Amino acid sequence: MTTAARIDGTAIAREVRAEVARRAARLAAGGHVPGLAVILVGDDPASQVYVRNKIKACAEAGIRSIQETYADDLAEAELLGRIAALNADDAVHGILVQMPLPPHISAQRVIEAIDASKDVDGYSVESAGRLVAGLPGFKPCTPWGCMTLIESTGIALRGKHAVVIGRSNTVGKPMALMLLRADATVTVCHSRTPDLGAHTRQADVVVAAVGRANTLTADMVKPGAIVIDVGMNRNAAGKLCGDVDFAGVVQVAGAITPVPGGVGPMTIAMLLSNTVDAAERAFAAKGLSC
Ligand code: NAP
Repeated sequence: MTTAARIDGTAIAREVRAEVARRAARLAAGGHVPGLAVILVGDDPASQVYVRNKIKACAEAGIRSIQETYADDLAEAELLGRIAALNADDAVHGILVQMPLPPHISAQRVIEAIDASKDVDGYSVESAGRLVAGLPGFKPCTPWGCMTLIESTGIALRGKHAVVIGRSNTVGKPMALMLLRADATVTVCHSRTPDLGAHTRQADVVVAAVGRANTLTADMVKPGAIVIDVGMNRNAAGKLCGDVDFAGVVQVAGAITPVPGGVGPMTIAMLLSNTVDAAERAFAAKGLSC
């Protein structure tokens, strides 16, 4: 029996990061080092790991990072003040506020406070609007990483049927828009979709972004389909797993991402790419060459 090709997110992310490092080095050679500010509020252990990984990845890519860490009783006004200062700082090209924020702080107000030219997470209404309108702008890192993985298979998306499971503002919706922009016919499913399998069985490409293990099983996949697993869950044994029943779906799909080693590494790679984009645009806007 043939099994699906594994889409190696770790290797593809390494290539993206190497290209980012080349672009960052070119900027630095012209005296313009790209800079990313990363703000962490509170002491959530998972967020601390994510922030540490982002800072380390910046260092490896030649991006200067500025980490600001605050206690979880930080007032929203104070955080907004810090963002205003970073917006005005020419050495900072990207600003990332690690989510989730404590409940007394409005994530939406914080995201909207980030200057649109520094919104490297791509979460702001302006970035979302640009994606909807097909205008250049920052793309949210996880779905953009998924697009890069899909493209790595060599599939021509034009006219293909793609099903996205999940409709969050950060993954499912932008994913659907990017697939649409690539001329796929897109169906978006969610928790109120009555017969998920009826949709996924029609799909040439399935992106699962749910947050529930075994949402997509082998009987729900068309033979040869490309399956991208965004989910990050813990199984009963505490092991990291995705939304897809990998062992079953790998027997049916044409190509599939593993968890770990699939979408996860791409998210940071695309963040670095957005940061270098931001720096290149900032220098070009000043008429400086890089
Ligand atoms: P989210 O905001 O919780 O959204 C989950 C989506 O799944 C919702 O739209 C929900 O529908 C839908 N859903 C829930 N149960 C469903 C079901 N039984 N059938 C079909 N749809 C269902 O989550 P998210 O932020 O998009 O993240 C999704 C997953 O990706 C999580 O596991 C997260 O940890 C992971 N993630 C991974 C990365 C990475 O870098 N690898 C990055 C971001 C997220 P409703 O809208 O109807 O509630």
